Amino acid sequence: MDFELTAEQELLNQTAREFCEKELIPHEGLLEKTNELPRELELDIRRKAMTVGLHACNMPESVGGAGLDCVSLTLVAKGLSRASLALAESVRRPCNILTACEGEQVTHFLDPVMRGEKRECIAMSEPDAGSDLKAMKTRAVKDGSDWVINGTKHFIANVRLCEFVILFAVTGEDQTPVGTRKRISCFLVDLDAPGLEVANGYEQMGHRGYHNNILRFDDVRVGGWQMVGAEGEGFKVASDWLGGPGRLTIAAVCQARAERAFEVAADCAAQRRQFGQPIGKFQGVSFPLADMAIDIRLGDLLLMNTAWRVDQNFPTVIEDGAMAKVWCSEMLGRVADQAIQTCGGMGLMADLPLERIYRDARFERIWEGTSEIQRHIISRQLMRERGV
Ligand SMILES: Cc1cc2nc3c(=O)[nH]c(=O)nc-3n(C[C@H](O)[C@H](O)[C@H](O)COP(=O)(O)OP(=O)(O)OC[C@H]3O[C@@H](n4cnc5c(N)ncnc54)[C@H](O)[C@@H]3O)c2cc1C
Repeated sequence: MDFELTAEQELLNQTAREFCEKELIPHEGLLEKTNELPRELELDIRRKAMTVGLHACNMPESVGGAGLDCVSLTLVAKGLSRASLALAESVRRPCNILTACEGEQVTHFLDPVMRGEKRECIAMSEPDAGSDLKAMKTRAVKDGSDWVINGTKHFIANVRLCEFVILFAVTGEDQTPVGTRKRISCFLVDLDAPGLEVANGYEQMGHRGYHNNILRFDDVRVGGWQMVGAEGEGFKVASDWLGGPGRLTIAAVCQARAERAFEVAADCAAQRRQFGQPIGKFQGVSFPLADMAIDIRLGDLLLMNTAWRVDQNFPTVIEDGAMAKVWCSEMLGRVADQAIQTCGGMGLMADLPLERIYRDARFERIWEGTSEIQRHIISRQLMRERGV
C-alpha cells in the first residue's frame, strides 16, 4: 500500500495550508465579533484564491477548472478548512452540478462563476422536506416555453453572497407500479428575478458570518433554457454532487478542525503546569490525548482512502462517502469536547478557537444528510449485498 502523495499533491497541500494561515485565519476574530463576512473581504479572498490557482480547482479542465483528482481536492478542502467555514468557502469550489450547463446556461451562469464574477447557492430543503427531499412542494408549472415557480425553500446557505440559485422543484407526477412518483427538476434562477424574495433565515448556534436564508417564490417566471438536464432528472443531475464531493468535503472539513483542536489541546497539556508539573504528565490528561490522536489518525485514513476510492471509480463510493462523513463528523464532536476539557476554563474562552470549533462541530452531523441518513445509506447497501 502506497500512502505517498505526489509532488503536485504535496505542493497543493502546502499552498492550501499557507493560504489558510495567511489569508483566512487572521479574519476569524472579525467574524466571531460581528457575525458578518463583509462582501469586500469575500471578494478579496476570491481574487487572491484565483492568483494562486485555488479558485474553482474542483471543476473539470473542459470548463476552465484545474481538473483535480479527488485526493488532491480533499487535500485542498482540508488545508483551507482549518479556518472557519465562511472564510474557507470564500475560496470558491463551485457546485459541480454546473458542469451540466449547456448553451445559454454556460454564458449566463457557468462562465461568470469560473471567472469569479458570480456565486451560486443550492436550494433543495423546505420546511416540510428535509431528509425526505422527495416531499418537496415547490412547484414549477409550464407556461408556453417558460416555467412559473411557486413555493418556499429554507435553510439556504449564504444567499446574500450569491447571484443565482440552483433550484429543485416539482414539475409533475408519474404513475408507477409502486405509486405516484414526483418529477423533480433542476433550474438556475437569478436571485433578482421578479417575485423571488430573499428573507433572513433563523439565528443559528455557530458558523458565525455564514447565514441561512429563506427563499420565497411567488410566480417567478424562468425561461425553458434555465432548466438543467432533462425534465424530471433533477436528482440525476445532482447525484454526483450529493453522493460524493459534498459528503467528502464535510469529512475533510471535520478532519481539519479536529486536527487544529488537537494541536491546541496537546500544546496546552505540554505548557500548562499544575501541581508542579505539566498537566500532560497526568494520565487523566494524557490518555484522552492518545485517544484523540487515534481518532484523528483513523479519520484521516478513512478520508484519504475514500478519496482514493473515488479516483479509482469504486462502485461503492456513495456508501464510502457516507462512512467518511459519519466518522469524521462524530469524531470532530468527540475531539472538540475533549480538547476543551484538556484546556480547562481557558478552553471555554474565545481567546482559543476551541469553543468556536465545538459550536460549529454540531452542524456537521446534520447538514448534507444527517448521521442517521448516512447510516441508512450504508446499511441499505449491506442488506442489498445479501439480497434483502
Ligand atoms: C445551517 C444550515 C445550512 C443549510 N444549508 C442548506 C442549503 O444551502 N441548501 C439546502 O437545500 N439545504 C440546506 N440545509 C438543510 C440540511 O441539509 C437539512 O437540515 C438536513 O438535510 C436535515 O433535514 P432537517 O433539518 O429537515 O431534519 P429532518 O429531516 O426533519 O430530521 C430530523 C431528525 O429525524 C431524523 N430522520 C429523518 N428521517 C429519518 C429516517 N428515515 N431514519 C432515521 N432518522 C431519520 C434525522 O436524522 C434527524 O435526526 C442546511 C441546514 C442547516 C442547518
